[in-house]
Amino acid sequence: MISKKMTALVQNSSVIRAMFEEGKRLAAIHGAENVFDFSLGNPSVEPPKEVKDAIVDVIMNENTNLVHGYMSNSGYEDVRTAVANSINHKFGTHFNENNIIMTVGAAGGLNVIFKTLLNPGDEVIVFAPFFGEYRNYVNNFDGELVIVSPNTVDFQPDLDEFETKITPKTKAVIVNTPNNPTGVVYSEETIMKLSNILDKKQKEYGNSIYLISDEPYRELVYDGVSVPYLTKYYKNTLVGYSFSKSLSLPGERIGYLVIPTEVDDAEDIIAAANVANRILGFVNAPSLIQRVVAKCLDSEVDVSIYNRNRELLYNSLTEYGFTLVKPEGAFYLFVKALEDDDKAFVNAAKKHNILIVPGSSFGCPGYCRIAYCVEYDKIERALPGFKKLAEEYQ
Ligand code: PLP
Repeated sequence: MISKKMTALVQNSSVIRAMFEEGKRLAAIHGAENVFDFSLGNPSVEPPKEVKDAIVDVIMNENTNLVHGYMSNSGYEDVRTAVANSINHKFGTHFNENNIIMTVGAAGGLNVIFKTLLNPGDEVIVFAPFFGEYRNYVNNFDGELVIVSPNTVDFQPDLDEFETKITPKTKAVIVNTPNNPTGVVYSEETIMKLSNILDKKQKEYGNSIYLISDEPYRELVYDGVSVPYLTKYYKNTLVGYSFSKSLSLPGERIGYLVIPTEVDDAEDIIAAANVANRILGFVNAPSLIQRVVAKCLDSEVDVSIYNRNRELLYNSLTEYGFTLVKPEGAFYLFVKALEDDDKAFVNAAKKHNILIVPGSSFGCPGYCRIAYCVEYDKIERALPGFKKLAEEYQ
């Protein structure tokens, strides 16, 4: 008999993953070329050449015990130094290897941070729409997720409501920009206002409130938009980064946490996160790929490929009468469903073999997410289906 907690989790298992499985089922019936799966954020762009070269180089030229062995639970020291230097170079920060913990992707990093920070009943605030897995990560450590309602005008966070939701039990706030599922980049003005509110509330309650910047999409931005580096705006900021999207390596499970020395109780947090990484069963981030990313910190996937997809899909959907905010980052479009019930709308799309995810999975009913990290010609072939779908609602 499985645990009660897992029974509930299995019942509510990820809609996105279910959609992915549905795609495979439909492909077996209709042929893969006739099924348009926009459900999963699985990068379609190749990892940069430097990554492949680095894999070969590490395997051929580095000491085998070093490449495949255990190391400190935080990761290889030289890798962490390289990561810290790269961040300092890009953002003018002053980190060193002690501020970096290599993690099993962003998901691993977030679980490490919540294990480190949360007592049962501690509250973690998120802004809807948000990456649905946050629910599970917070629930893993008996925290309470507190949701700020979506601002559907431009999908910047609703900071007035945010202020009212901070309580003495608030331990952390998650910010994800560029955002999954909207693709919106939070403006510098938003970040400054949010930081001021947090400073004020910390003083009011005499507690530390940690801002967790979950940034797997940092490099995936368009039109020259810049993404503020949050440690520069708010002292108690922790960063969770991932190479899953920036280097198209989601299956390799590699990312890192930044725990700046300035944050309250930094030394304890660093020590605890190190232990959490071990006892959650990760032990350490995968060794080979740690050594690889250290050699590729200035590389990025070819974002112009996603940009081309974004333009085609955004322009076409707008022309067909859909309502959506043009995303400035990530590889998602968040579209208003053409009926109130987003799940019914997603089912209507499925009749055209188009697989998309209901906004309710992201805490924002009435919308749906389209992941455009797919081949360009798949979008082209899906467009007639999107057009017919829009016509059905006219
Ligand atoms: N956070 C957000 C907002 C994501 O979209 C994802 C993955 O899609 C993750 C975290 C998890 O990323 P990773 O594959 O690095 O664990």
